[in-house]
Amino acid sequence: MKTNKSPKENQIKDVVLAITYQCNAHCQFCHIWKNKERFSLQAGDYKNLPRNTENINISGGEPFLRNDLPAIIRTINHQCSRAKIIISTNGFLPSTIKRQMQEIIKFKKDIGIAVSLDGFGKVHEDLRGFPGGFSLVLESIRLLRDLGIKNLKIAFTLNNKNINQLKRVYQLSKELGVEFSLAVCHDSSHYFKKQNNEITNTIQIKRQISWLIEEELKSFSPKKWLRAYFAWGMLGFLKNRKRVLPDYSGLNSLFIDPFGNIYPSDVWDMKIGRLQEIKNWNSFVLKTKEILLSKDKERPNSWMICTARQAMKKHWLKVSLWILQTKFCSNKKVYGFTFVQNRAAIQ
Ligand code: SF4
Repeated sequence: MKTNKSPKENQIKDVVLAITYQCNAHCQFCHIWKNKERFSLQAGDYKNLPRNTENINISGGEPFLRNDLPAIIRTINHQCSRAKIIISTNGFLPSTIKRQMQEIIKFKKDIGIAVSLDGFGKVHEDLRGFPGGFSLVLESIRLLRDLGIKNLKIAFTLNNKNINQLKRVYQLSKELGVEFSLAVCHDSSHYFKKQNNEITNTIQIKRQISWLIEEELKSFSPKKWLRAYFAWGMLGFLKNRKRVLPDYSGLNSLFIDPFGNIYPSDVWDMKIGRLQEIKNWNSFVLKTKEILLSKDKERPNSWMICTARQAMKKHWLKVSLWILQTKFCSNKKVYGFTFVQNRAAIQ
């Protein structure tokens, strides 16, 4: 007999919500800004999100371009009261960010913010197509820190043109007292509208990511150790275009566009539903599972935190063993790189 009950392992836990396709940046590796249509979902439509969601990334476009952002966060916070909510911003609108955040922290003090920064000065400004943007990003970070945002991080997106900036931006995050997260640019026809991103400088990328792994593992923070594992997974992905852990897109994580269209992930261009039409999330996940099984060969490879997080939770033993081995062995092999305590040896 068929049941509507979805086992716990098949619940939606991670959601990326693009709330608008309007963007004030012109990034080289993401062409969202070319979209003519911006959004149709209203704040109230987000009442239909799955209640048990644990992580919600409010993204765009640039989310702070929506004047009703506080109302959207209020609705989401009410519907998904257990969820950690983080807003991803390019940081190019410091005064708007400050005004909206003053409103948001009145009811959601623990909200997180990830501000994109891919390099210093012109490197960042050229990659993001925003002259003068570097100082605006720094201003936004300082304003957010002054507002008392604890969960504040610099999000660095790795690509061919900024690999030599990783260490500097990482050091800057330390000086500013904010977290650092690493992502690699991905192709996506339905979301980023960009398909020919290339990462070719693999030798240098291996060196830089290996350095980052070593830095993160030196700390006493389990969160940083997990980030080191994630970075190691990125090395594997860049080398073989394969994930080091399975992909639970569509079953544990979703991407929802500003019109309510639901996709398994940022990079899998396959509509699997509409937010406004979902009556029962358990039935949705069971139906999605059948669809994904039949389409598995079409699954694009990716290694993004929104799809890796749940895999890392499910495979915690494997992740923990890697951390123990890599942290406590003096000679570590990371995709062909001997990883020694003397940092100079891998530079
Ligand atoms: S990466 Fe972000 S800031 Fe850049 S165009 Fe895309 S949405 Fe805008």
